[in-house]
Amino acid sequence: MSTAAPAELSPELVQRLTGRGRRFQAAIRCPSRHDDYGAEDYTRALAEVAMRPAETLSLYVHIPFCAGRCLYCGCNTTVTHDSSRMDAYLDTLDREMAMVAERINGGDRDVLQVHLAGGTPNYLSEAQLTRLTEMLERRFHLVADTERSIECDPRRASAGQLELLHALGFRSIGFGVQDLDPEVQRAIGRIQSEELIRDVYWMAREIGFDSIGFDLIYGLPQQTEAAFARTIDTVLELAPDRVACFGYARRTTDGPHQHAIDVHELPNNAEREGLFRNAVAAFTQAGYAWIGLDTFALETDDLALAQAEGRLHRNCIGYTATPSAHLAGLGAGAIGELQGTCVQNQPNLEIWQQEVVAGRIPVNRGHRLNEQDRRRRDAISHLICNLVLPQEMAADCLDDEYRRLAAYAGDGLVEALPEGLRVTEAGRFFLRELCTEQDAYFHWDRARWHFSHSE
Ligand code: SF4
Repeated sequence: MSTAAPAELSPELVQRLTGRGRRFQAAIRCPSRHDDYGAEDYTRALAEVAMRPAETLSLYVHIPFCAGRCLYCGCNTTVTHDSSRMDAYLDTLDREMAMVAERINGGDRDVLQVHLAGGTPNYLSEAQLTRLTEMLERRFHLVADTERSIECDPRRASAGQLELLHALGFRSIGFGVQDLDPEVQRAIGRIQSEELIRDVYWMAREIGFDSIGFDLIYGLPQQTEAAFARTIDTVLELAPDRVACFGYARRTTDGPHQHAIDVHELPNNAEREGLFRNAVAAFTQAGYAWIGLDTFALETDDLALAQAEGRLHRNCIGYTATPSAHLAGLGAGAIGELQGTCVQNQPNLEIWQQEVVAGRIPVNRGHRLNEQDRRRRDAISHLICNLVLPQEMAADCLDDEYRRLAAYAGDGLVEALPEGLRVTEAGRFFLRELCTEQDAYFHWDRARWHFSHSE
C-alpha cells in the first residue's frame, strides 16, 4: 500500500481542489448535529451496552492541561501551573469513571485500548500518572494485552517519567515534534531543540516502548521547503515507528490565540501542498507505508500490516488495527463512539466538574447515527483505509455521492473497476477532497482532528 509517488500534480488541479479537503479534516470539533442528545440518552446507551457483555470497549481519556499555549493549537486545554488543579481533575475523573463503569459493567468487559491525550497527559506528575492508571485498572477490566498509548510533550518528558510510563504498561508513545526549525518554532511559540527530541527519542527507545510516534505539522508560519526537509531528514535518521504529518488549520474562532500567528508568514496553498507532497515522497522512499490520509508507519508496524491486510480501521481518535465495538470518552471534552452514537463530554472544565459532582453523566452533545449516517461513515472509513469504495457500500443511499466521486476519473484521481472506485496514485494526494464527496452533512470524521492534534 505504500506509494512513493513523485507527485507531479497539475497546478490547476491543486488550485481547484485545495482547501476543500481542509474543511473535511478541520471544520468541526465534534458532532455537528446535537439531536437534543443529553445525559439521559447517554445513560440509556450505556445500559444497552451493558446488556451485551461480549462487545468490546476502548477508552479515551482527555487530560486538558498544558504548561503553555502553542500558537497553532486547536485543542481543548487549559494553561495552568497549579498541580492541585490536576489532582482535583483526577478526583472528578475517578467519579466519572465510576459512573460509566457501573452503567456499562466495565469491570467485566475486556478493554482493548486505552489512549491518553489532551492537552498534555505527561504534564501530570509521576504520582498523578500512577494514580490515573490505577483508577483505570480499578474501574475497568484492563487485561495483559490491553494496548496502552499516550501522547507526550517532549519538553515535559524525563527518563524517570518514561520509565514509569513503561512500568505502568504503556507501550505506545507519541511525541509532538511539529517542526525542528528554530524560526518556525519561534513563530508558533513552541521552542524545543533538536537535541531534546533526540534525547527523548533515544530514552524511549532504550526503555523499550514498542511503538514510538512523532507528530509533524506542515503549513506552519515561516516553514520553507528546505527547512521542513531538514526536519524530515532528522526524523528519518531517528526512524520512529510512526509519523503523523498533519496540516495546520487556522481556526481563530475556536482558538483566538491563533491570531498571534501572522497570516503573511503562512505558506500559500501551493507551497503547503508541496510541503506535504515532499513529506510523502521522503517517507515512502525511506520505506514507510503511507497510512490513510496523513500517517506513515514502518512496514513492520501494526498499522502498516493492518492496512496491507485490509483490516485497518479508523475511529474518531485515529487509525487502529484493533477496533472495538465501543469507545468511551472520559474527561472534559472527551469524545466517544458508543452504541452507534458519536458523543462529546462537556468541554468546559468547570461545568464538566459540576455535572459529575452532581452525579450526572457529563455529556454535552451527541449524534445518533441513522442508517444513512452509518453507511456514510463506513464508506469514508473504507475509502481512507483501503483506497477503494466498493459499489455495494454506496448502493441505494449513496448513489449521488458515488457518482460525484466517479467523476474524478476525468482528473485521473480515481479509476472505475468492476468492483468499485479505486483511488489512483495522484488521487491519494486529494483523498481528503475525495472524502468530502461522501461527507454531505455528517461530520463524524472531523471530530478526530481535534484530538489528533494534541501535543
Ligand atoms: S499543542 Fe499540545 S502542548 Fe501545545 S497547547 Fe496544544 S495541547 Fe498543549
